[in-house]
Amino acid sequence: MEEHVKSICDKDVVAGSDGPFSNDENWRYRRHLTLPEFGPEAQQKLKRGRVLLIGAGGLGAPVSIYLAAAGVGTIGLVDFDTVDLSNLQRQILYTTQDIGRPKVQAARDHLQALNPHVEVQVHETRLGRKNVASILEGYDVVVDGTDNIPTRYLLNDACVQLGLPQVHGSVFRFEGRVTVFGMPQGPCYRCLFPDPPPAELTPDCTEEGVLGVLPGLIGLMQANETIKLLTGIGRPLVGRLLMCDALSLTFRELQVARDPKCPVCGKA
Ligand SMILES: [Zn+2]
Repeated sequence: MEEHVKSICDKDVVAGSDGPFSNDENWRYRRHLTLPEFGPEAQQKLKRGRVLLIGAGGLGAPVSIYLAAAGVGTIGLVDFDTVDLSNLQRQILYTTQDIGRPKVQAARDHLQALNPHVEVQVHETRLGRKNVASILEGYDVVVDGTDNIPTRYLLNDACVQLGLPQVHGSVFRFEGRVTVFGMPQGPCYRCLFPDPPPAELTPDCTEEGVLGVLPGLIGLMQANETIKLLTGIGRPLVGRLLMCDALSLTFRELQVARDPKCPVCGKA
């Protein structure tokens, strides 16, 4: 995967186009537009990009804030929860005044106040077998910010079926992981973990806790990968699982290959 990956949004971009940016956008995105490796062409791809965030919690909060600030044109949010006082230690989309509000609504207000050029689509529902395909339809990239294993499998299988890249992130206590699944030649979640673990062996942040800044660290790396996928710049984290230990602040990278016998993305 050394070569640059073709942008997911190449379909619409006219080469050399400066894009129909307003004066506000030209000034707002100035630090992108002046980056030689980025420029108006990549900014235009962000503007045309459609990203769906599964979960508006610890990971979804930093991912959505940075994607909105960066100018991703359409951001979808899936969450059925309301803001709780215990969320505020890490879910930086919300304030004390938001307690009790549906997360997707509070998140939409925050993101649109940050960048009115972004369209925020809210899906105030729990992702399930019946609605997953219709919710995912039309998006270019899916960001996994879920906190439960069954949803992760459901999401993975749907993304593989629909051919959608999925930016995976997870946090637990002081450790986090990030990688990109579902790219051509790359693995999917089931290539790593073919079957869900038994429920009693599934760790839970509610009971075990998580360091508040950790979803910020991991979420920003997910936002970084999402921007790379949309614009085609850099080398995405495909076939590489990055693991972060916040206590020692050390990073390890594990090579992960596609499993030809994978029940979801394998040849059979
Ligand atoms: Zn697979």
